[in-house]
Amino acid sequence: MYRSHNCGELNATHINTEVTLSGWVQKSRDKGFIVWVDLRDRYGVTQLVFDEERTSKEMMERAQKLGREFVIQVKGKVIERASKNPNMPTGEIEILVSELTILNKAIVPPFTIEDETDGGEDLRMKYRYLDIRRNPVKNNLIFRSKVSMEVRNFLSNNGFIEVETPYLIKSTPEGARDFVVPSRMNEGEFYALPQSPQTFKQLLMVGGMDKYFQIVKCFRDEDLRADRQPEFTQIDCEMAFVEQEDILNIFENLTRHLLKEINGVEVDKFPRMLFDDAMRFYGNDKPDIRFGMEFGELNDIAQHKDFGVFNNAELVVGIAVPGGNAYTRKEIDKLIDWVKRPQVGALGMVYSRCNDDGSFKSSVDKFYDQEDLAKWAERTGAKPGDLVCVLSGPTNKVRAQLSALRMELAERLGLRKPNEFAPLWVIDFPLLELDEETGHYHAMHHPFTSPKPGQLELLDTDPGAVKANAYDLVLNGNEIGGGSIRIHDKETQATMFKHLGFTPEEAKEQFGFLMDAFQYGAPPHGGLAFGLDRLVSILGGQETIRDFIAFPKNNSGRDVMIDAPAPIDDEQLKELSLQVNINN
Ligand code: ASP
Repeated sequence: MYRSHNCGELNATHINTEVTLSGWVQKSRDKGFIVWVDLRDRYGVTQLVFDEERTSKEMMERAQKLGREFVIQVKGKVIERASKNPNMPTGEIEILVSELTILNKAIVPPFTIEDETDGGEDLRMKYRYLDIRRNPVKNNLIFRSKVSMEVRNFLSNNGFIEVETPYLIKSTPEGARDFVVPSRMNEGEFYALPQSPQTFKQLLMVGGMDKYFQIVKCFRDEDLRADRQPEFTQIDCEMAFVEQEDILNIFENLTRHLLKEINGVEVDKFPRMLFDDAMRFYGNDKPDIRFGMEFGELNDIAQHKDFGVFNNAELVVGIAVPGGNAYTRKEIDKLIDWVKRPQVGALGMVYSRCNDDGSFKSSVDKFYDQEDLAKWAERTGAKPGDLVCVLSGPTNKVRAQLSALRMELAERLGLRKPNEFAPLWVIDFPLLELDEETGHYHAMHHPFTSPKPGQLELLDTDPGAVKANAYDLVLNGNEIGGGSIRIHDKETQATMFKHLGFTPEEAKEQFGFLMDAFQYGAPPHGGLAFGLDRLVSILGGQETIRDFIAFPKNNSGRDVMIDAPAPIDDEQLKELSLQVNINN
């Protein structure tokens, strides 16, 4: 028996008990005549004591030689500590060791295994198994497990069946590039790894499973950002005989269940916002509504006043920065530089100070009088003491720029509080999105999303105006999930593919199996998927998903611990009928 107790559970009630513990040497303090060792395992830290008077000379010497991260087993008696540590669950006691076994030695770790470590990110990723011994990482993984368990509990209590779908499949269009896997047995042919189990979960509905879920890996070959991973986990769900309302209700309840069980937070019914309104008032389809600073469109009051920049713009739009009139000229100039950075891309920024006496002072006083500026303040909801910031230009670009400014200022003003949760549904997404570079439409969600009833005809005349039965769940400015009611008949699906630029042959080749299935009695169905990594990190009050993934990839998509991806040898290439031909 390696242990009778773990390192986190002994306290004063165990005094005089003989115990066996196993774990890692966190640190030791050697006073010559007495040695203390902190023994760590997943559950906590327990102090061990070896002293000259009560310990054999031989064991004393071995205790003195214990290095950091040695794996040891000890037997001994729980005794009361002379100087107690009220900050530790085991702080009242220590173990007077009578037997010490070294289970495994350790070389000196490349960084300290402490909450605050001296190891940089790269080093910690290379030795992730050591990083996982640290409380912050360990606790995040435990937290993630708790969230997954609660998801499973809730969904299975609500009649959902967990079904696994294959990973070696054919392209699923979620808008990213596929990762592909060569097939040895089918020369020259490739599987694609699923960007999501989308088509399979729809086929499960055709198969009569009715309510499906899966906590599942998805693979998307995209350029990476801090909060993206090439492989990530979804809580993927699908239901038959449902309308949008049924789906929103059940997944709102799931989210509420998680917020309550995990964070102890009760949230009222989630607000619902039309996609068009989200774009109009927040410039973004995933608005953070923990704070105001809503957009005020100013075209009708700011144009035709001789100010060419505004007159020539498709959209003139502003926000009020609470307390922003306190900014110095220099600070405002810095803000202007900030919006002009290439990452944001604005050409400039106009501002109007809202003075405490009700007067205004703007950067464009030449063109706008006090009455005009009062209207700007009214439209953006600015109060005396605030600063109105105004951007102008092509609608989509300006909205994105002002949205970036809104989020940045809210961050600086401390308005994005990690312990506050403001979920909402964004609904009525457009069915199609125009790719401005190619001039082609593509599916905003995916090609299986159904248009709103009665809007199919519009596809021919005004495709960009067609709205879909598609919805996103947004939490604190992050999209944590999205889904749609699906097309469930062959004709509509074929029409959809046609509008997405597929020839009937291409549609058949790629998705014939799905359209075939629709001919055998497909029920009306719909579903959604939550991004588990992101959900967990937001519930955990953090924004980077990497911190909640046991073995994440870095920004170049590499696993630096196992050093992947890596070349494969010629023999293996030959077996796969592949040749590597790198041109650069
Ligand atoms: N397959 C979709 C996605 O991965 C979710 C859904 O429509 O259910 O985003």
